[in-house]
Amino acid sequence: MQQNIPVEKAQELLISRTPSPSEEEACPLAQAYGRVLARDLASRVNHPDAADTALDGYAVYAADARGASQIKPVRLRIIGESPAGQPFLGRVEANQAVVVFTGTPVPEGADAIIRIENTERRGNEVLLYTPASPSDIRPKGDDLRTGTTYLKAGDLLTPGRVGLAAAMGFSSVFVRPRPKIGILSTGDEVVEPGEPLPHGGGYNSNSYSLAGLVLASGGEPVLLGQVGDRPQALSERIAQAEGLELLLTSGGVSMGEYDIVRKLLETEGNIHFWKVLVRPGGPLLFGSWHHLPVLGLPGNPVSAMVTFYLFGRPMLFRRLGRSDPPHQQVKAVAMDRFKGAGLKTAYRRGLLSYGTQIPMGYQVHSTGNQSSGVLRSMSEGNALVVVPPYQEIVDGDLVTAIRFTE
Ligand code: AMP
Ligand code: MG
Repeated sequence: MQQNIPVEKAQELLISRTPSPSEEEACPLAQAYGRVLARDLASRVNHPDAADTALDGYAVYAADARGASQIKPVRLRIIGESPAGQPFLGRVEANQAVVVFTGTPVPEGADAIIRIENTERRGNEVLLYTPASPSDIRPKGDDLRTGTTYLKAGDLLTPGRVGLAAAMGFSSVFVRPRPKIGILSTGDEVVEPGEPLPHGGGYNSNSYSLAGLVLASGGEPVLLGQVGDRPQALSERIAQAEGLELLLTSGGVSMGEYDIVRKLLETEGNIHFWKVLVRPGGPLLFGSWHHLPVLGLPGNPVSAMVTFYLFGRPMLFRRLGRSDPPHQQVKAVAMDRFKGAGLKTAYRRGLLSYGTQIPMGYQVHSTGNQSSGVLRSMSEGNALVVVPPYQEIVDGDLVTAIRFTE
């Protein structure tokens, strides 16, 4: 068992014990938002599939319209229309025009579009008051070309990418299965919300905040409830869960008599590491119980969330083969003081914003009380401010902030 290891070392060990993805499953496009692509996607079509017009107006010969002006309009004969879904099939010859609508194919022969606002219709003729513009014709394949790969395995399906998959002609896509992540809270004092709160008790918030974080990282949370501080109760509950790839526990990883997660893994499993040089969340533990990897998060609500974000989230990204990094870092100007934690790396909760006045760029305020029991520092913040070992941040300093992302 390794003990008191730096943050990066712990992250490395966790990644090295997380298998990269091998399975895939078909997913209808309507359910694909938030999933991770398992295969590259090459477009099945050209888009547009023929040259089309970027605006409403007339398709013409640029040469015909060259000298057109308010004083000397050019007069062309209208030979047809090309409405959506019913392209004009004839050819445009000199001195002719065809009515076109945004996104409809440009008839053969025409090489420029004049916008409707610069024309006047007179029966079967149209007067052009300005020259026509070739750049308002969008060439075939301007957006998508058949056979070109626009989305890659490992890409998170954002709204734009789901739309792109549809535009490329896919009704369903192959995605990575969501890893099932068990979530189990420990502690005799921990009570489910909705129940009466006994003296000295506190509601189980960790199961719910962690479920949200697991979802946001691409996993499927499996809520296993809460157990009291008895190793027997813990092992019985874990044994009931099936198909888990990882178990998250909260609480019970410190030095005390009742720290049952640590005790259980000592007797019935393995501990790979215990204690990381991090604040909050120092007692973080990683081990396994009968082949089930167990990430033992500390019970304090902020510690549980921050350690999952720093250590659990990269495991899920690895398992899903996600191509984007698990943590998005920006440089920001500190607008408050952020305390360091001696030889530990501190992750303080901050509110990141983009200032348009001096100082320009990202700036980060403290969310206030930084105690690991104050969950509001997470609910009111949107980023973690990194304070490296043996450093203190004062206002005006440039800091690294990790912003919370999906
Ligand atoms: P522990 O790590 O078990 O010593 O717990 C540390 C602190 O976190 C205690 O104040 C607990 O009451 C609190 N805590 C433990 N589990 C939870 C939970 N599931 N939800 C909210 N707070 C918790
Ligand atoms: Mg406890």
